[in-house]
Amino acid sequence: MINVQNLYKKFGSNLVLNDISATIKSGEVVSIIGPSGSGKSTLLRCLNLLEQPTSGTVLINGVDLSAKGANIDRSRQQIGMVFQHFHLFPHLTVLQNLTYAPIKVKGLKRAEANEQAKGLLAKVGLSDKAAAYPSSLSGGQKQRVAIARALAMEPELLLFDEPTSALDPEMVKEVLDVMKDLAKSGMTMVVVTHEMGFAREVADRVIFLDHGTLVEEGSPADFFDNPKTERARDFLEKVL
Ligand code: ADP
Ligand code: MG
Repeated sequence: MINVQNLYKKFGSNLVLNDISATIKSGEVVSIIGPSGSGKSTLLRCLNLLEQPTSGTVLINGVDLSAKGANIDRSRQQIGMVFQHFHLFPHLTVLQNLTYAPIKVKGLKRAEANEQAKGLLAKVGLSDKAAAYPSSLSGGQKQRVAIARALAMEPELLLFDEPTSALDPEMVKEVLDVMKDLAKSGMTMVVVTHEMGFAREVADRVIFLDHGTLVEEGSPADFFDNPKTERARDFLEKVL
C-alpha cells in the first residue's frame, strides 16, 4: 500500500530524513519509534504530503504523491491522521466534528452522515457524547472522537502521531484499546508511539529511526528482545 523510496527531507541545511526506504502492506500495523527529534513526525507527514519530500518518492497504492500534478487531495482522502493534540473543531459538537468532512468533501447527505457518525461513536464508546462540545470532554474522550472523525472519511490508511502522549496516564488505555480494535479489524495503521507495550503487542513490524536514518526494522519480538544495533540497544535501555 505504501512504498517509500530513498526519501530525503531537509529543513534548510538540517537533514531530517536520510535515505528512508520502507514498504507497508495493506492490513499491516507498523510502529515508528525512536528518540525525540529523530524524524518520526516528519516521516509520517511525508506519507500524506503534509511535508513535501526534498527528494525520493512516496507511492500510495502505486500513485506517486510527490509527482507534479498528482491528485494529492484525492490520495489524502484515503489517509486519515490522528495527532497528539486532537485538533477537533472547538465550535462544533462531537457529532458535527464527525459529519463535517463527509458532508463537505464526500457529499454525503446530512442524514447519512449522522447515521454513520452515530455508528462510529458507538464503536469508540462515546454514544452519549454526540451533542457535547469538545471542551467538555476529557483528553481520552477527545482522542477517541478524533479517531472516529478520521474513520468517518473511510480511509484506507490511518496515521497516528503520538496519539497518547498528551493524555493523563489513566486515559491512555481507553485510546490504545480503540486502536487495538482497529488493528484487529484489519485497518492499515502507521503509529508513531512511545508506548512500547502497544508496539510490542499490536504492531506487526517496528521501524526504529535515529537521527533521520532507518536504523532497524523487524518484528516487535526481534526488535525488543534482540536489537541488532548499538543505537537501538541504547534507546531501549532508556525507555524500557
Ligand atoms: P520526532 O517526531 O522524531 O521528534 P520531528 O520529525 O518532529 O522528530 O523532527 C525532526 C527534526 O526536524 C528536528 O530537528 C526538528 O527540529 C526538525 N523539524 C521538524 N519540523 C520542522 C519544520 N517545520 N521546520 C524546521 N525544522 C523542522
Ligand atoms: Mg514527533
